[in-house]
Amino acid sequence: MNIHEYQAKALLEKFGVPIPKGAAAKTPEEFINALTELPEGPTMVKSQIHAGGRGKGTFTDGYKGGVKFCKSKADAKEVAARMLGNTLVTAQTGPAGRKVQTIYFTVASDIKKEYYLAILLDRVASRPVIVASTEGGVEIEKVAHETPEKIFKVVVDPAYGLADFQVRELVTRLGFAGNEAKNASKLIRCLYAMYWETDAAMVEVNPLISTPSGEVLALDAKVSFDDNSLFRHPEIVTLRDLNEEDPKEVEASKHSLNYIALDGNIACLVNGAGLAMSTMDIIKHFGGSPANFLDVGGGATRSQVVAAFKIILGDPNVQGIFVNIFGGIMDCNVIATGIVEAVREVGLKLPLVVRLEGNNVEAGKATLASSGLTIVSGDSMADAAQKIVKLVAAAA
Ligand code: GDP
Ligand code: MG
Repeated sequence: MNIHEYQAKALLEKFGVPIPKGAAAKTPEEFINALTELPEGPTMVKSQIHAGGRGKGTFTDGYKGGVKFCKSKADAKEVAARMLGNTLVTAQTGPAGRKVQTIYFTVASDIKKEYYLAILLDRVASRPVIVASTEGGVEIEKVAHETPEKIFKVVVDPAYGLADFQVRELVTRLGFAGNEAKNASKLIRCLYAMYWETDAAMVEVNPLISTPSGEVLALDAKVSFDDNSLFRHPEIVTLRDLNEEDPKEVEASKHSLNYIALDGNIACLVNGAGLAMSTMDIIKHFGGSPANFLDVGGGATRSQVVAAFKIILGDPNVQGIFVNIFGGIMDCNVIATGIVEAVREVGLKLPLVVRLEGNNVEAGKATLASSGLTIVSGDSMADAAQKIVKLVAAAA
């Protein structure tokens, strides 16, 4: 689960990480209240969307910059009015962009130098890793690509936690000295505590800055959490912004379905993540393109199958459906009954290819055959995949 910068900064602050003073607003009326909380003077106006690259982004009406420096609070209010409700396109949003529904105002800081600092899970080491660079700011991807030696990593042993020598290594390699080094050390320890205690999947501060007066601050923050840990953090769950998530994925999560929307046109309904992966592969192999990853799981109920089918049929990009079930624990007839029920409710105008195999397969096939629905059955995974790819191509 992702959260907005303003929410991430509030968490950072709770754990003792210094941030510039700021206030968020969701309506033009709230701009006034938010700005009253800040001192008069240079103010940053920051579009809140779950994507980075905002500073270099452009709104769909041509207005440039989703993060802007303003000389005064009066200017900030005008700039905020241009951003709110507008759609921001950045390198991370895709061409459709994201509608800005919250504005975050902060006191503009004087930047002496920008750094990069992130904590995330290193899946190879199975440990948290701290990634840092002296080349922070808006182009860390370029640094990673062109001068990877300028990015360094410190792997933390979770049993011991972040050690003092590791903090010293980070601070030294970032080039901090004196009072700045002391401030940076404290910030890194607080950031690690936050990463650890909130079960974060990633905490990224880009830029981390030093100021002419020797402060070290988190100027931007991108935080995501491990979904499997959210039951331990009800206060974090309240930060979820469903406007930022794919509505189909939100609906799927309500029914405990593992669903990820993709940009192809052949919907897949599969039981088991491994089978779902190979189903997407085989669709590609035969020249098609999957519209989603959908694993209904080993013990799906009829109502989950109905919900899954409705989500698939509600996707305007879908031009054909491939149901690929290998019934081990899963009873094929539960899938068949769910499909028939869902189609009766919402109708079906698209080609549907079903391959059922395993537990109670004969009853499942009989349910489909007696349903009166136009269903093409596949004898094997390869046969079924070829059929759906052909049918979708023929319809297009
Ligand atoms: P991003 O583009 O989505 O990563 O948004 P950021 O919050 O990182 O802002 C983009 C850039 O704007 C930063 O890398 C800074 O260079 C600049 N910026 C952000 N806040 C301030 C500030 O308080 N003062 C100054 N001078 N620049 C800022
Ligand atoms: Mg940034």
